[in-house]
Amino acid sequence: MKRYFKDIWDSFYTIAIGMGVTFRHLFRKSVTIQYPDIKPELTERARNRLYVNMDDCIGCDQCSKACPVNCITIETVKAVPPDDLGVTSTGNPKRLWVTKFDIDIAKCCYCGLCVYPCPTECIKMTDVYEFSEFDRHNLVYNYSTMTPSEVEEAKGKFEKWQADKAAAKKSSTEKKKEGSEKPKAKQQESGEGKRSDSPEDKKSES
Ligand code: SF4
Ligand code: SF4
Repeated sequence: MKRYFKDIWDSFYTIAIGMGVTFRHLFRKSVTIQYPDIKPELTERARNRLYVNMDDCIGCDQCSKACPVNCITIETVKAVPPDDLGVTSTGNPKRLWVTKFDIDIAKCCYCGLCVYPCPTECIKMTDVYEFSEFDRHNLVYNYSTMTPSEVEEAKGKFEKWQADKAAAKKSSTEKKKEGSEKPKAKQQESGEGKRSDSPEDKKSES
């Protein structure tokens, strides 16, 4: 019986303590916000969604190599004459067409390791943190600005340039070979002439 009344007392006592805490917080400054009506203020270097300025990307692959979860996929094609891609805003020459630059943000762990090695500072963490999707495929961001036909054109130009280069190399090798064979042939001819005039040759002939 005693235990019964003690339990009733404990129940009221603990509720009173809890309500006391609640009551005290009614007069203190709130530490929560009414998200999403009110947005949290992020710290200056908060790491959220990535952004890539493709005008400054040189396709060096440094960011992709630094990524610990392999969520950056980059494909490039060498730009061949007469195409001149110019320079970035940091003065770095652009020599590659960046045909693919995908970031699977669903795999990203927001470590920021891709940002530091970028020589042109074109990959950055932004303050955008609201980018949830119903379909995870929508979380693969395609940053390349090239259309499929432009990609094909760049690839075609590069293949042609490679084929022309290989043909030029082959013809110069053949010319060199021909050039080195001619003196040998002349030497052989003159050597044979000498041998036929020698006394031994004459003897054998008689
Ligand atoms: S923040 Fe980290 S995980 Fe995300 S893409 Fe960059 S290196 Fe990869
Ligand atoms: S490190 Fe920078 S320049 Fe190099 S591929 Fe990545 S984003 Fe582009």
